[in-house]
Amino acid sequence: MAYKQDTICVQGGYHPQSGESRIPPIVQSTTFYYDSTQAMADLFDLKANGYFYSRLANPTVAAFERKVAELEGGVAAIGCASGMSAITLLALTLCDAGDNIVTSSAIYGGSYNLFSVTLPKYGIEGRFFDPDAPSEEIEKLIDDRTKLIFTETVANPSIKVLDFDKIAAIAKKHGVVFVVDNTLATPILCRPFEWGANIVVHSSSKYLDGHAAALGGVIVDGGNFVFKGNQRYLTFNVPDESYHGLVYADLPAAAFATKCRAQLVRDTGAIMSPQNAFLSWLGCDTLALRMERHSSNAKTVAAYLAKHPKIDWVLHASLPDNQYHALAEKYLPNGQGGMLSFGIKGDVNKAAKFMEALKLITQETHVADVRSCVLHPASTTHRQLTKEELEQAGVPENLVRLSVGIEHPDDILADLEQALKQI
Ligand SMILES: *Cc1c(COP(=O)(O)O)cnc(C)c1O
Repeated sequence: MAYKQDTICVQGGYHPQSGESRIPPIVQSTTFYYDSTQAMADLFDLKANGYFYSRLANPTVAAFERKVAELEGGVAAIGCASGMSAITLLALTLCDAGDNIVTSSAIYGGSYNLFSVTLPKYGIEGRFFDPDAPSEEIEKLIDDRTKLIFTETVANPSIKVLDFDKIAAIAKKHGVVFVVDNTLATPILCRPFEWGANIVVHSSSKYLDGHAAALGGVIVDGGNFVFKGNQRYLTFNVPDESYHGLVYADLPAAAFATKCRAQLVRDTGAIMSPQNAFLSWLGCDTLALRMERHSSNAKTVAAYLAKHPKIDWVLHASLPDNQYHALAEKYLPNGQGGMLSFGIKGDVNKAAKFMEALKLITQETHVADVRSCVLHPASTTHRQLTKEELEQAGVPENLVRLSVGIEHPDDILADLEQALKQI
């Protein structure tokens, strides 16, 4: 029987045998013992399931991987050292030198750098599109060396909501893998596989862990892309000489996840640690409850700020006049998440003064954990840019990014109110 998301959060991923610990033990061991050479050989040949070295797989990490795979409705998942390592591994699993990635430009800064600066050094090109552009314009970027289309459900930090139907149709038409970074929506608010995505990736450092305790990432294989016989994905259809001639496309399931683990996780070692997997697994227990509260708090705060005379504009898809409100009603009907941004009337100094006046809400370079926090890009992450460059980057100097936590909404509103009074 398929359980609801709330139930999977607390019951998924780990099912102890009689007498075993109720929650996954932290298996803090690099290696595993076997009493026969054959047993180990079968593991190396992927003929049997089991663990031999924690650079490839570990029981605690596997419990977290299974929980996220169940929540997303995928067939397999890979726990990674961070969100960025997850995105790097998925790109390298699909792409070789000479290939390209067609990607939304409204994505996390780290992913933007990866696709625009770092991967091009190794011959993998990032081709950027405006996610609001018409399909024809996006399709022009696709050629026979395009290996994936990359997007975010709710973009960080622009808070644009993805038009899944539009991108899924393009990906299907061209037979290209459709990848969605679902970090800010989480599988509680949106399940990208139900809308045509083939691979989902997360920075679990955000809502999945939820407590700002553990860095991590996870790649989920939807198992819904046919690599077999697809000429675009030749490396899935020829024997992998580095893995005893295995042909990934011939596997009965999870061709992508198997190639990713067997080749890229093996060769880069960018896997999640057992300790971080344990914390992330535990964080997911309360994910459904937290996302409900993050979303309702953010909706309350957005409505309050939208009416405030000292506020210029507010972006959150819960607002009826938001550009992405209709898309959010379709794809995020149970809540739009805790991230919002707004502009303070006045110049850069007004925004900085407001930030300093906040007492409960802290200034941090993090988002999406239980505590409310703010960031002023113009005086921190983007401080090297001029006023004009800031406008071009979509982060005007008066923009404040607010990640709404799960405190009582009255206390969050009171803190905003007293800080706004001081400017
Ligand atoms: C934070 C973030 C990442 C990067 O994750 P790390 O765990 O910090 O490496 C990727 N995508 C999105 C949407 C993020 O918010």
